[in-house]
Amino acid sequence: MTISIADGVPISGADITWENLPAAHQPEWPDAHVVDQVKAALSSAPPLVFAGECDQLQAQLSQAALGDAFVLMGGDCAETFEANTANSIRDRLKTVLQMAVVLTYGARMPVVKVGRMAGQYFKPRSAPTETRDGVEAASYFGDGINALPFDPALRVPNPERMLEAYNASASALNLVRAFTQGGYADLHNVHSWNKDFVRKSPAGQRFEKMGGEIDRALDFMKACGADSDELRRTDFYAAHEALVLDYERPLVRIDSRTGNPYSVSGHFLWIGERTRDPEGAHVAFAEKIHNPIGVKLGPTTTADDAITLLEKLDPNREPGRVTFITRMGADKIRDNLPSLVDRVENSDHQVLWVTDPMHGNTKTLSSGQKTRQFDDVVDEVRGFFEVHHSLGTHPGGMHIELTGDDVTECLGGSFGIEEHQIDERYETACDPRLNREQSLELAFVVAEMLGDR
Ligand code: PEP
Ligand code: MN
Repeated sequence: MTISIADGVPISGADITWENLPAAHQPEWPDAHVVDQVKAALSSAPPLVFAGECDQLQAQLSQAALGDAFVLMGGDCAETFEANTANSIRDRLKTVLQMAVVLTYGARMPVVKVGRMAGQYFKPRSAPTETRDGVEAASYFGDGINALPFDPALRVPNPERMLEAYNASASALNLVRAFTQGGYADLHNVHSWNKDFVRKSPAGQRFEKMGGEIDRALDFMKACGADSDELRRTDFYAAHEALVLDYERPLVRIDSRTGNPYSVSGHFLWIGERTRDPEGAHVAFAEKIHNPIGVKLGPTTTADDAITLLEKLDPNREPGRVTFITRMGADKIRDNLPSLVDRVENSDHQVLWVTDPMHGNTKTLSSGQKTRQFDDVVDEVRGFFEVHHSLGTHPGGMHIELTGDDVTECLGGSFGIEEHQIDERYETACDPRLNREQSLELAFVVAEMLGDR
């Protein structure tokens, strides 16, 4: 284990001096005293992840940055404490594992699996408050800050929820480690992941057929004497948006091997579209930690912005250190992405390019519900691939909001979910997620794009 334990006392985030930079999208806590107590508790809590694991992920991301792997990131927009159950975690994990197998098989390329999981409890919101029937309450900022039901009292930011987020993340990660290392992710089990799904879904049937081909390949390898342990377990990493600095800063530890600080709240942290100000506190925070870092880049990003971020976040020019997650919108990606890619590829930074085809394609219905069209999601991914193909660069990964359930939050897909059906299962705490069918269908489409290389 690589986290520093000096004389039995973990070296805490309190040993790092944080600049007093402007931090956007921070909660307005009602009671500073309780915040201090929670920060103290977090700063002596055991790490959720280890520095060596973060380095291992960075090495895998660097393979993708260099064109030899594809990265799949997926999970809820906002995790909730209520859905932090064995079944819900298993079903999200299963969806990501199924997508990853489809991509690996189609692209003949390693797929790095990363969950928006075990820490995705904090949300930036466009408005600080919302009003319903003349009643005003704070917006929902994620279960790590306040509660989802519309009640002004429940919406008051409560710092103790940060401890609950830490504990929920620890239990989720424990289960994910058990599933992925303890046999559930064994490639010999692909059919069992699909069992509940195969009869009722076109993508499930397609998966079943592919599973049969994988079985034959595994039998062949076994007959040849190649029955590798690699097939029985898989690496799976935890990622979330590093948003609330009262949560993130206390969860930094010094790695005893190198003396470098790492965030131990997750393997991969990203900076959101709203907080990527190069002069702001989020970028300064990310500069200090040695985890691999993502930055969301929306449609207003200029090539200069991208380079400024790289100068701050990647001073040592390490492949895999920075992942740019572009979220332009299907109608903008083909116009906006080329100048960014061109400029960055002509610098001496080796970034990983990942597409987030969700956040630029959100529409609000007359009911007020947010949704996304499956076809827009596919179109943005297609645009992302087209741009990279035309510039000779590698479309290195995909970042998706998804769930393992049959929700009706995004429209379209092979079941053709229509607007009038949206209330059947609209369960998200924040943004609309692809359901399992739509996720798997997307994986088949992207596998073909990758296979066409
Ligand atoms: C998100 O990933 O849920 C999110 C808020 O994205 P962005 O920062 O790209 O808007
Ligand atoms: Mn979201």
